[in-house]
Amino acid sequence: MTKMLLFLCGLLSATLAQAATPWQTVQHPVNGQPQSIGSFANGCIVGAQALPLEASGYQVMRTDQRRYFGHPDLIHFIQRLSSRTAQEELGEVLIGDMGMAAGGRFSSGHASHQSGLDVDIWLQLPQQRWSQQMLLHPQPLDLVSADGKSVVARHWQPQIDRLIKLTAQDSEVTRIFVNPAIKQQLCLDAGVDRDWLRKVRPWFQHRAHMHVRLRCPPGSLECIDQPSPPVGDGCGAELQSWFKPAAPGGSKPTVKPHPPLPPGCQALLDKNLL
Ligand SMILES: [Zn+2]
Repeated sequence: MTKMLLFLCGLLSATLAQAATPWQTVQHPVNGQPQSIGSFANGCIVGAQALPLEASGYQVMRTDQRRYFGHPDLIHFIQRLSSRTAQEELGEVLIGDMGMAAGGRFSSGHASHQSGLDVDIWLQLPQQRWSQQMLLHPQPLDLVSADGKSVVARHWQPQIDRLIKLTAQDSEVTRIFVNPAIKQQLCLDAGVDRDWLRKVRPWFQHRAHMHVRLRCPPGSLECIDQPSPPVGDGCGAELQSWFKPAAPGGSKPTVKPHPPLPPGCQALLDKNLL
């Protein structure tokens, strides 16, 4: 009997841990004029849209997690990018996590993706469409060598350079995060046209995907943008610092306690969920 109780308690706490954030329980977008509220790492969204799951040019992975919502600007960006890659016959764009129906914090994975303006796009462009089974259990392609100092030559394709460059040249994109070794390869391959590299920022992990972030949409008055990346292509000392054992690349930032929600997001929770 006691054992059974312990077992049940275990189950219950496992379930609670899974639903560590109230945003997980929101199944549908909050009605209203689209508004990204707060920052990428502490925010939410009203009037999110679902990315159409059936489309040509891109495919959506792990749809069972329901992380395919975003501001209409994000949906349009994905459609714009994938029609461009289709035109150039680069392959299928693989879409990973966007945001949840009302944004907010995931129970696992990233701290950002909260205001409907972030999307993970994988750095492989299959020529064939993937089956449902492959999309539900996708295999990431690790592009970075084991020592973290370079890309794996046999996995690195010109199409990946092109995909990242097309993304960076989109005027609504403000930042793209990739592994330092990937940024380094882009720097090597870029030639004289280098302005777009400014938006490509080295960051931890991101060995198989890029994280793309849009600027705050014009009508989202409570949306908080990040300052622009430093001027220049970012291929010099800053990038090199990631390959040294000391900061910033040497150790992961410590997890900070969650800040209070922006008032607009707290109000949403109060109104819609509690
Ligand atoms: Zn991401």
